[in-house]
Amino acid sequence: MFKKQSKVLKQGSKTLAKKIGKLSPNKKQLPDHHFKIVKVKRGLEGMGLFAGEDIKKGEMIIEYIGNIITTKEANELKENQYLFEINTRRTIDGSPKWNIARYCNHACEEEANAESDIKKGRVFVIAVKDIKEGDEIVYDYGEEFVKEHIAPHGCRCRAVKHNYGESY
Ligand SMILES: [Zn+2]
Repeated sequence: MFKKQSKVLKQGSKTLAKKIGKLSPNKKQLPDHHFKIVKVKRGLEGMGLFAGEDIKKGEMIIEYIGNIITTKEANELKENQYLFEINTRRTIDGSPKWNIARYCNHACEEEANAESDIKKGRVFVIAVKDIKEGDEIVYDYGEEFVKEHIAPHGCRCRAVKHNYGESY
């Protein structure tokens, strides 16, 4: 039984590898929600997301993925800091560890080298500056999140002037 299953899996992954290989020879090793090579290691605050290759301004880096829940369900998950509202009805719960984009830390606008962009109900992290291999990838989480979760302990980004007031 097990042998049979693994055979099927092997065939499946070969087909997938072929498909991805056709898109770009560099992308063979990447899961399908990754557009650039990234690494997770200690960052500005806890773990962070780092560029594993040079990334040009405007390029897509990674998709923010998770379980789709309703806004009503999201409102009940107050302790969850990985909720991403995509419209008035739907929210992505990006807390699962397989959502590698969740490791992307906050930085105030001046220091941010990426942004999160919603396209057709999906969320993508896109470079807003050229990013060098080894740089931490950071984007501005926005006023509501910063005031609630970051301001209480102070922002650790490298900006001279932090966004959202001088109170932290
Ligand atoms: Zn800051």
